[in-house]
Amino acid sequence: MTDSNTKEEFVFQTEVGRLLDIVAGSLYSNREIFLRELISNASDACDKLRHAALTAPSLTEGDPGFRIGLALDAKAKTVSVSDNGIGMSHDDLLETLGTIAKSGTGAFLDQLGDDDKQNFSLIGQFGVGFYSAFMVADRVDVVTRKAGEDEAWLWSSDGKGAFTIEPATRDERGTTVTLHIKKDAKEFLEDARLRHIVATYSDHVGFPVTFGEETLNAASAIWARAPKDVTAEQHTEFYHHSAHAFDEPWLTIHNRVEGVLSYINLLYVPSTQPFDLFNAERKGHVKLYVNRVFITEDPEGLLPSYLRFLRGVVDSEDLSLNISREMLQTDPKLAKIRQGLVRRVLGELKKKADKAPDEYATFWRNFGAVLKEGLVEDGPTQEKILEVCRFASTAADGLTSLEDYASRMKEGQEAIYYIIGEDAAQVANSPQLEGFRAKDVEVLLLSDPVDDFWVQHVPSFKDKPLKSITRGGSDLDAIAGEESSGDEAPASADADLSDLIAVLKVELGDAVKDVRPSKRLTDSPVCLVADEGDMDVSLERLLRRHGQMAEGLARVLELNPDHDIIKKLVLRAKAEGAANDDLLKDAAHLLLDQARIADGDSPPDAAAFARRLNVVLGSAL
Ligand code: ADP
Ligand code: MG
Repeated sequence: MTDSNTKEEFVFQTEVGRLLDIVAGSLYSNREIFLRELISNASDACDKLRHAALTAPSLTEGDPGFRIGLALDAKAKTVSVSDNGIGMSHDDLLETLGTIAKSGTGAFLDQLGDDDKQNFSLIGQFGVGFYSAFMVADRVDVVTRKAGEDEAWLWSSDGKGAFTIEPATRDERGTTVTLHIKKDAKEFLEDARLRHIVATYSDHVGFPVTFGEETLNAASAIWARAPKDVTAEQHTEFYHHSAHAFDEPWLTIHNRVEGVLSYINLLYVPSTQPFDLFNAERKGHVKLYVNRVFITEDPEGLLPSYLRFLRGVVDSEDLSLNISREMLQTDPKLAKIRQGLVRRVLGELKKKADKAPDEYATFWRNFGAVLKEGLVEDGPTQEKILEVCRFASTAADGLTSLEDYASRMKEGQEAIYYIIGEDAAQVANSPQLEGFRAKDVEVLLLSDPVDDFWVQHVPSFKDKPLKSITRGGSDLDAIAGEESSGDEAPASADADLSDLIAVLKVELGDAVKDVRPSKRLTDSPVCLVADEGDMDVSLERLLRRHGQMAEGLARVLELNPDHDIIKKLVLRAKAEGAANDDLLKDAAHLLLDQARIADGDSPPDAAAFARRLNVVLGSAL
C-alpha cells in the first residue's frame, strides 16, 4: 500500500524516455494532433466505463451521462481536457502513464533513423497517444479518480525522464489532463484555434465535447449515420482517429446489413502499410461495438487474419452486450457476421481490381502478400480470394489475374504455369523460362515468401491445374506455338547427346538425379529442374531455410542440345579417350554450378568452382 500523504517519484520505462525525447524535440508541424489524442483517450475512458457499467451499474449511479470537457485558461497558460469516464487508480497510473504496453516498441524505436524522427507520421502511426502532449507542454498534470473508488491522484511530469504521483482531491469520477503550454506553442492558447482543431479531428467522437456552455461536436457515432451522409473528409478524420493513421483510406466500405442478423460495418483499407503488418501476432485492428457500446478491438473470430490490414468498426445490435470474450469467439452469430464481412470485402476489392487496375496495383503491393495467406488458411473462400489475386507474369507489363491468364492460354496448353524464386528480378531471368518465352507461353513470376506456401494448397483455378515450370517435364511439345512447326529436328538431338550424358552422369555422380536433354532452354546451356514427383525447388529452398531439411535433393540437370557449348562437348564426348578428358570433367562441374547460380544458389565448393573456371579460361585464352 502507498502512504497516502507522500509524493512518490518514478522513472519512465526506457522506451517511454526515448519516445519522449523524440516527441519533445520534434519539429513536427502538426503538433495540434495532441488534442485529438487526449480527446480520443477521454472518449476511450467513457467507452470503458459504459461497458463496465453493464455488469456493475453502480459505477455510474447518479451520473449516467458521459461528457468530455475542454477548458482554456489563457492567464495560467493551460489547456485541459476532462472526462467522467473510468478514471485511473494509483496502480493504473503507474502501469499506463509510465510504460508503453505495445509489444515491439523497443524494436520499432531502434528502426527509426534520424530523419524518421522528424517525420512524425511514422511515430504517430505507432500511436504516441498521451505522450504527444509533451509536444506542446512543458508540464502535464493528470488528476484522476477511478469510478467506484474514493481516492484521487495527481500524476505530474515535465517529460524529462521522471514523473510523480501524489494524493489529490476530485469530486467526481474521471480524469482531467492539464497541459502547461510551452512558450513556442502559444497558438494553442487561442479560443478559435482550439475550436478549429476539435472541428477538424474530433467531430465524430461519440460523446459531447463541451467548451464552456457550448457543445463542439456532432456526438453521434459516424458509422451509424446513413452512408451517403458521411463525407470523404469525415471518413478520413474518423479513420485517422480510429486507426492512429496519417494516410488517406485507400478504400472505404460502409454499409448496413439488415436481416436475421443486423450489423453495420465501416471498414477502411489503408493506402500505406501499417508498421505492424508483418508482426508475428498478426493482430487485426477492427473494433467491435454492440449497439454503439465499444466491446473490444480485434475479437478473435470477427475477421480472419489475412484481412488484418483493415481498420474501422463493426457494430451489431444482435450480439449480447454482456458476452465474454471467450464466449464471443464461439458465438455462431459472430461467425455469420464474419462470413458476411469477408464476402463484402472481397467483393469490393474485386470491383476495384476490375475497374481501377492501376490503383489496385498499389493495394496489391501493400497487402497482396497478406491476402494470399487466406489461400492457405481459408479453404472455402479460396476461389474468391484467387479472383482478387494479381501476379507478375512474362506476358504482362503490370500484373495479371488468373482469369486473364486463362484467356491467353495457348492451344494445347492445359496448365497455368508459374515459377517461384526469392527475388523478382532473378525469377524473371531464370533459364527455365526460355523455352516458354520462345513459344510465347505465359508464366507467372512469384517471389513473395508466402508464394511457396499457397501453391501447395491451390491445385487448380477453374479446373486448370497450376504447375511449376521447375518440376517435371516441360509440356512444351504439346503446346502449339510460334516455333512448333519449325524445321529444326529436335528429336534427333536426343540421340546425339547420349555420349555426353553418359560422361556427365559418371562425373557428377550423386550430385544430380539425372541428366537429360531439355525442351525448355533456348539461350542457356543448362538448367536444373525437380524430377516429376519430387519436391519443387522453391519449397525445398524454403524448408532448408527453416532448418527442416539439411541438404537439398539431387536435381535433374537439363542440357540445351542447340547450345554451342553443348554441341562442342558432344563432339568431345564422342572422341576417343573421353573418359579421361580432364576438360570434359571440369566442364561437367562448371555446368552444374552455373545452373545452381542461375537459381540463386551458390556452388557448394566455391574454391573448386574457381579453380575449374580458371583452368577452362586459361585454356581458352
Ligand atoms: P492508447 O490510447 O493507444 O492506449 P495512450 O498513450 O493514448 O495510448 O494512453 C495510454 C493509456 O493511458 C490508455 O490506454 C489508458 O489506459 C490511459 N489513459 C490515458 N488517458 C486516460 C483517460 N482520460 N482516462 C483513463 N485512462 C486514460
Ligand atoms: Mg490514446
